[in-house]
Amino acid sequence: MDEYVVIGNPIAHSKSPEIHAQFAAQTGQQLHYDRLLAPLHGFKAAVQVFQRRGGRGANVTVPFKLEAHALADQLTERARLAGAVNTLKFEDGRILGDNTDGAGLVTDIVVNAGQALAGRRVLLLGAGGASRGALLPLLQQKPAELVIVNRTQTKAAELAAQFASHGPVKSAAYAELDGVFDVIVNATSASLTDDLPPLPVSVYGSDTLAYDMMYGRQPTIFLQSAQQHGACVRDGLGMLVEQAAEAFHLWRGVRPATAEVFASLRAQLAQ
Ligand code: NDP
Repeated sequence: MDEYVVIGNPIAHSKSPEIHAQFAAQTGQQLHYDRLLAPLHGFKAAVQVFQRRGGRGANVTVPFKLEAHALADQLTERARLAGAVNTLKFEDGRILGDNTDGAGLVTDIVVNAGQALAGRRVLLLGAGGASRGALLPLLQQKPAELVIVNRTQTKAAELAAQFASHGPVKSAAYAELDGVFDVIVNATSASLTDDLPPLPVSVYGSDTLAYDMMYGRQPTIFLQSAQQHGACVRDGLGMLVEQAAEAFHLWRGVRPATAEVFASLRAQLAQ
């Protein structure tokens, strides 16, 4: 049986084993997928032991995505630009590193939510790992403009400069934001602490999609505020499922359907 794991610390909360078990059952793939708790200073050793044991691939989550990037022998372009890796594939003793988070986000917005990004004004909140991972896939959709805002402005400016050759991206301060955006993606961790990024209400129109990468039982404070200002809202549960589907495709060469998996996770969250 081919073995896969999700590696993180903590890891008990991860829904990845459940998602991949459903993908495997649906596609008839013979594989086993488990959680692996790596010590905070033991990521590399944990990967090497798993790889020597014959492991075929791993998902990587907090706090090891940067270490996974450093560990990979070869990187996809999106992982190289993201500076972070959430998917490892072990092949012939070598490690391929990929980052499927941004592709998962884009699929959830464009396919599942039916919100086109091409020709649209997109606002990205945050300049951490999630934001960095989302930038190339977002720009590949050819938005009219992509504006990055971040609490620490210099980080937004650095990201915009790094990705400038991939599309029309610029940075701004929250207070400088002007006009309505079609899509607003919250890639900050502010929702974790119930903080609201200081957005002017003028960014919201009646057709705006406000997307929070975080998900949970209740809408986040960001989604609640966006809804009050007339926006349509969506949380990051679909991104979680779609990034997993992208990883499954990289490993197995088969693309699983995601709608039923998403629905079962949503039902569990509501319990
Ligand atoms: P990082 O720690 O790398 O970055 C955090 C970002 O949030 C920084 O830009 C930081 O700004 C900003 N920030 C933090 N607190 C506040 C605040 N109170 N007000 C405004 N901005 C704030 O985190 P990640 O990028 O790894 O993760 C971000 C979010 O994305 C998390 O909630 C995570 O759960 C979610 N995520 C969801 C995924 C999914 O599959 N659904 C996948 C990956 C991530 P500054 O630079 O000033 O510190």
